[in-house]
Amino acid sequence: MAQEKSMAIPEFLSKAELIKQGAEARVYRAEFLGKPTIVKERFRKRYRHPVLDEKLTHRRTVQEVRSILRCRRAGISAPVVYFVDYTSHCIFLEEIAGSSTVRDHIASTRQSDCSKELGWLAERVGQILAKMHDEDVVHGDLTTSNMLLRRQEDGESELFLIDFGLSYISALPEDKGVDLYVLEKAFLSTHPNTETLFERLLKSYAAASKKSSAVIKKLDEVRLRGRKRSMVG
Ligand code: AMP
Repeated sequence: MAQEKSMAIPEFLSKAELIKQGAEARVYRAEFLGKPTIVKERFRKRYRHPVLDEKLTHRRTVQEVRSILRCRRAGISAPVVYFVDYTSHCIFLEEIAGSSTVRDHIASTRQSDCSKELGWLAERVGQILAKMHDEDVVHGDLTTSNMLLRRQEDGESELFLIDFGLSYISALPEDKGVDLYVLEKAFLSTHPNTETLFERLLKSYAAASKKSSAVIKKLDEVRLRGRKRSMVG
């Protein structure tokens, strides 16, 4: 029975639309049980020992699902998990239809000079990340491409977090500080001259998180280490 089920997935994916071919996973768009669905398939890495590869891939799939469920339970918007197949390492997720990445949104809004709206967005991102860290979820790959924005009927926008493939559960302020550092690096290189916007994000994070002071302290330490390293290099 399990064999039959896992045989059906490659056939299902062969009819799906491939939207991203990454180094670790392929992302498809498909219809699953009548719903617009995103399927994330982690494939085998030939250069890794098969046993280690299977273990790592399995762990990433489990971590991704666990973090999404933990976020959703806490009221953080993340796609619904429809189905998981641990044999083919596929996660079937709700497609956030009609959304755009925060990366694209910032780029187009900056062109039209609507800085007020970006301030709102930075604050919203700060609040969501504070909530996620207070749940002890560390994302592991925070970028503005891993956040989706969808305008609702009432004109308000909803912010979703996606791609929890490198996430893990940790209560350590250092892990959360590094999570913010990764975002800062990605944010400022993707969106040049947005230091003030990022500071606004951090301010909102600090105001919203119950445990922010230890995290921001760690972030400052990691920043200092990064600066020293780049001076030596
Ligand atoms: P990922 O590898 O999970 O970052 O996904 C790659 C791309 O697929 C993202 O940058 C999004 O544009 C899109 N994507 C991923 N998950 C979803 C989703 N649940 N709904 C809509 N688009 C998604």
